Amino acid sequence: MNTQQFKADGRSAKPFSGEGLASLRNRIRGRILTAGDEAYDSERRVWNGLIDRKPGAIVQCQDAADVMAAVAFAAERGIAISVRGGGHNVAGSCMVENGFLIDLSSMRGVRVEPGKRIAVAEGGARLGDLDRAAQAYGLAAPVGVVSATGVAGLTLHGGVGWLLRKHGLAIDNLLSAEIVTADGRLRRADPTENSDLFWAIRGGGGNFGAVTSFTFKVHPVGPEVWLSAPIYPLDRAQEVLAAFRDFMEAAPDELMGLAVFWSAPEAPQVPKELHGSPVLILLTCYTGPFAEGEAVIAPLRRIGTPIADLGGPMRFVDVQTFLDQDYPDGKFYYWKSIYLDRLDAEAIQALFDHTASRPSPLSSIDVWTLGRAMRRVKSTDTAFYKRDAPYMIGIEANWDKHEDTEANIEWARRVFEEMKKFSHGGNYLNFPGFFEEQESLLLGAYGENLKRLKSIKAEYDPANLFLGAINIAPGPSGLT
Ligand SMILES: Cc1cc2nc3c(=O)[nH]c(=O)nc-3n(C[C@H](O)[C@H](O)[C@H](O)COP(=O)(O)OP(=O)(O)OC[C@H]3O[C@@H](n4cnc5c(N)ncnc54)[C@H](O)[C@@H]3O)c2cc1C
Repeated sequence: MNTQQFKADGRSAKPFSGEGLASLRNRIRGRILTAGDEAYDSERRVWNGLIDRKPGAIVQCQDAADVMAAVAFAAERGIAISVRGGGHNVAGSCMVENGFLIDLSSMRGVRVEPGKRIAVAEGGARLGDLDRAAQAYGLAAPVGVVSATGVAGLTLHGGVGWLLRKHGLAIDNLLSAEIVTADGRLRRADPTENSDLFWAIRGGGGNFGAVTSFTFKVHPVGPEVWLSAPIYPLDRAQEVLAAFRDFMEAAPDELMGLAVFWSAPEAPQVPKELHGSPVLILLTCYTGPFAEGEAVIAPLRRIGTPIADLGGPMRFVDVQTFLDQDYPDGKFYYWKSIYLDRLDAEAIQALFDHTASRPSPLSSIDVWTLGRAMRRVKSTDTAFYKRDAPYMIGIEANWDKHEDTEANIEWARRVFEEMKKFSHGGNYLNFPGFFEEQESLLLGAYGENLKRLKSIKAEYDPANLFLGAINIAPGPSGLT
């Protein structure tokens, strides 16, 4: 296993000597850290404990003006840039070895304008920042399901969460963004201004610049919603997942589902002797009219007898933190994804077998139900291409001892390879492993949109300054 893959694959920047930093220090409000500074080592840590990269400098920006100065400084010297939003990408793609880390993690402000039904989140905001601010007005933006995740990385690569079937991906609710491009200019991107850039950032990741703010359309949600979380023993997976699949096919758009092959949590509702045993948890969240929710989710809670049920009525902000404790900072993670065309008995059997063979009980395979609003947007309307698959699996290898790294990564890679036969292909770049396959992952995510992305990249970042992103190399320009 090579956790240093990024160092060896040609994506490293040339060493940054630190020359000229004093002039940048004088121009920005934020702090700049280099190796030798006391806080340098703690500040270069990201969520995934496997990532151990050393940027040449960490520029902790406080506002858009800082970002403009930092990008211009790096551009003048040809230093490769990476941008940190929430620092939660499993590949550590916000960290470029030896390059310039433009760190937006202190820029977490969120402003909500309830009358206009919009929320404006700064480039380093976490989902929890956005959820709390919007829920103060009974509103929500469609984002993901763990509150510490960064709004930026999640949105720039798509964004799937509890509101997906009703309101689509996070990018489907993005109205505009402000972005500092490689020439150091702050630009607005929306359907009329820099519309090509706006198209590209809706799925194309951090390749086109540092996004300093995102403006989302927000929707009335909650404040109370229904979460269902019945837990079934793994040996009932065939019957339970088939029932879940059929139920979700007919369920309203307001119900989003995520079936998780996992281990029984040490919750008081779960009998002690079953703690840690392999299970299938049917997580769903109903965000339609509250009075109807209990009846909507009821059938999922009585497919036979669950060993426990952790669901019930809950504030939407609490649903958004329900899974937080399962993903602590600094543990070891390797996540991949693949879209599935079918969830028939053969696919369910494969998911069962892979769950049973996990080297770590912390690992899971998550089956996301897609479609509905996500599918109503055309594949070429945004850079995010793969909209037609009914399911996506997230293969999450999670473990806590460094010596178990190889076995866990091998497991995830094996599941990824062996589940391909249930898929017409395509990958979700928010779960990219270490992005080892590069071109095939890009093709899987972008399909025919890749050419246009490369062309827009050539226009806005011809020197590939934003090398730290899940990188799309510039291609011939003029393609549409
Ligand atoms: C615990 C956990 C739960 C998750 N749950 C979900 C989920 O429910 N739904 C889902 O869709 N995904 C989910 N993800 C995946 C998540 O969306 C990605 O990991 C995402 O990239 C994280 O964004 P970030 O800003 O925290 O990441 P970072 O690591 O900071 O950045 C990721 C990438 O985005 C780029 N980037 C970050 N900020 C900016 C910016 N401001 N401007 C330009 N480029 C930027 C960087 O270049 C980098 O390549 C989850 C991840 C974790 C760890």
